[in-house]
Amino acid sequence: LGVYEMGYDLVCRACGRHTKQDVFRCPHCNGILDCRFDLEDPPRYRSILQGAKGFWDYRPFFPVAGERPVSLGEGNTPLVAAPRLASQLGMQGVYVKNEGMNPSGTFKDRCQSIAYTKAQEMAAPATIIGSAGNAGAAAAAYAAASGIPCFVVVPADTNMERLAQTLQYGANLIRVQGNVSDCIELLETVCKERGWQDMTTAHSHNPFQGEGTKTIAYELARDMEWDVPDWIIVPIGGGGILSSIYKGYQEMYTLGLIPRMPKMAGVQEAGCAAVAEAFEKGAAPQAIQRVQNPTGVAVAIKDAYPLDGETALQAIYDSGGVAARVTAGQIAQAQGELGRSCGVFAEPASAATVAALFKLREAGVVQKEDRAVCIITGNGLKDAGFALQQILQPPAIPMSQAALNAQIDQLLGN
Ligand SMILES: *Cc1c(COP(=O)(O)O)cnc(C)c1O
Ligand SMILES: [Zn+2]
Repeated sequence: LGVYEMGYDLVCRACGRHTKQDVFRCPHCNGILDCRFDLEDPPRYRSILQGAKGFWDYRPFFPVAGERPVSLGEGNTPLVAAPRLASQLGMQGVYVKNEGMNPSGTFKDRCQSIAYTKAQEMAAPATIIGSAGNAGAAAAAYAAASGIPCFVVVPADTNMERLAQTLQYGANLIRVQGNVSDCIELLETVCKERGWQDMTTAHSHNPFQGEGTKTIAYELARDMEWDVPDWIIVPIGGGGILSSIYKGYQEMYTLGLIPRMPKMAGVQEAGCAAVAEAFEKGAAPQAIQRVQNPTGVAVAIKDAYPLDGETALQAIYDSGGVAARVTAGQIAQAQGELGRSCGVFAEPASAATVAALFKLREAGVVQKEDRAVCIITGNGLKDAGFALQQILQPPAIPMSQAALNAQIDQLLGN
């Protein structure tokens, strides 16, 4: 293997050279690689996107042969209309794309389905990933599905839900006294020395996995009948998901399937906001600065350095969008609003999109006639502890009809 007759090239961001080899960095200058699909024969590609009923129906848009996909039923997540949230916001249309419905509970399953299919096609002896917990759990799941060994490197303070899941999928778990950016930086030498594949969900570490995430855009367009929302609101950790959703829309625009591009709103938490800070200064994407001591409750987006921050900020600028930051309190409040108004339970990083929508609406950035989609990247069960801190656990009552009635009356405020 090594050279495929597939409709894509890997293109180097630094020197611009193309290659058809399966490599993770540019063979000429070690630059970061992007998959670029030629999309010649637009009618064929349009009909694939129009007819797709599930994730692997998008196979011609993936950088894999894909004869034996490593799949657990990822993607094809529900787009949920949120009319009560919309009326609270004074808006026409608000929707949430519930990525928490993926097999391991986050959109990272889209990434790892592609990454492990590629690893299988390249006969990788083993895989390793640096993660804040969700990408690692997803890697562990797809490693189990493929039978390829997997090492997951996470910050020592990663919560129980993510650790338990990763261990139950049978991965080798390594906890490091550092943050997620530290974990990721440790991998390069290990991969080089051992010949393992890096499954970290950043283009600089794995140029293939991000092509899974762009299917969020394909599904949105299909489910909105080829109309485009005014805003797509996405959390930024490394910036990969925002960049990939934008790329998916660009491909559809190039193919003439959609009439215009959406505006991208990227959301970070106040104590870890490298991209928002650059945006506020109007700085160039290359000028994004690493955060020294990242803090916050939204651990899935607590990346000190956003590895895909440049492409994310460029997408924000190009689309006429914004980068916003929200506080832990706003996230907690938004998690409750989303749960009560739509029945969707989001983890803090994902509830941040709803918090940002409230903030952007108040600031008049998002208008009342606009339609917005919040990407709920992960399931609330990924961080049960956070949710429990926001509510009062009810007392345990005696097992009697009288006690039950008394408790109901109390809840009714009687
Ligand atoms: C990984 C992750 C993000 C951030 O994605 P990036 O591609 O790193 O920007 C957001 N939310 C959840 C739940 C995640 O797991
Ligand atoms: Zn190069």
